[in-house]
Amino acid sequence: MKAVRLHGYERTPVLDDVPDPVVAGPLDVIVRIGGAGVCRTDLHIIEGQWAAKSGVALPYIQGHENAGWVAEVGAAVTGLAPGDPVILHPLVTCGLCAACRRGDDVHCAASIVPGIDADGGFAEYLRTNARAVVRLDPGLAPADVAALADAGLTAYHAAKKAARRRRRGGGDDRDHDRECDQIPRIADRSRHPQGCHA
Ligand SMILES: [Zn+2]
Ligand SMILES: [Zn+2]
Repeated sequence: MKAVRLHGYERTPVLDDVPDPVVAGPLDVIVRIGGAGVCRTDLHIIEGQWAAKSGVALPYIQGHENAGWVAEVGAAVTGLAPGDPVILHPLVTCGLCAACRRGDDVHCAASIVPGIDADGGFAEYLRTNARAVVRLDPGLAPADVAALADAGLTAYHAAKKAARRRRRGGGDDRDHDRECDQIPRIADRSRHPQGCHA
């Protein structure tokens, strides 16, 4: 496949031919990329600011704001089929470690972030896992919403935190619901474990 890879810090990424990603585990999902946002973090990565933190080996494929269509799924994946339009949560978690079982996925002991510490979405295909895949409404084009996978998620997190504070300060669940109503509906939240009402 074609992929834009970073070969060295402070150098312009280049278009390469690389092998397609393959399903390696039962929960893996291969996604055909429809859109991949360029985040300010990507520029910082090129400048080398993330080198020590991510520990990623060069060359690699950047791009952590990704959406597209399911191309292939592992043997244990249910609820997703080739052709489904999807947006990808940037954090890929295991679902099995103590943190994941507490619902504290962000501290997963075995997480990866494609585009930061593994190959990402500046390519034709990307490997992620089923926990990170959110099926899109069929009326949404992946390229139109890809950047929301990180940029939108940040705003969502801020609104969610603000809503909690308002509740503690004497608001009620209706305040929370109104906050959530402001959040762009980038996916069918009923299928998303991190939906507003979780
Ligand atoms: Zn970002
Ligand atoms: Zn985990």
